[in-house]
Amino acid sequence: MASLVPCPHCGIRPKEEFTIKGAALPRPAPDAGEQAWMDYVYLRDNPRGQYEEFWHHTSGCRRWLVVTRDTATHEIEASRDVALGGNTEART
Ligand SMILES: [Zn+2]
Repeated sequence: MASLVPCPHCGIRPKEEFTIKGAALPRPAPDAGEQAWMDYVYLRDNPRGQYEEFWHHTSGCRRWLVVTRDTATHEIEASRDVALGGNTEART
């Protein structure tokens, strides 16, 4: 069964068109300190359930998206454009 991703610009697309970059974590302030940046760059939780990740629609609109994916079932619930925010949310 193919996984489908709802792109806010292109509609429902196969996951093979996307490049996954990783967890969509809040970026620390530039002066947050070495430990905050170490955690941001190198440390990841491994949660079970819904998780937000950065996905690039490489073979489509070439926009960066935040995709909400369930780590246990791999079902994708929604996505939104990183630059345009929640106004662009698309759901499966
Ligand atoms: Zn797209």
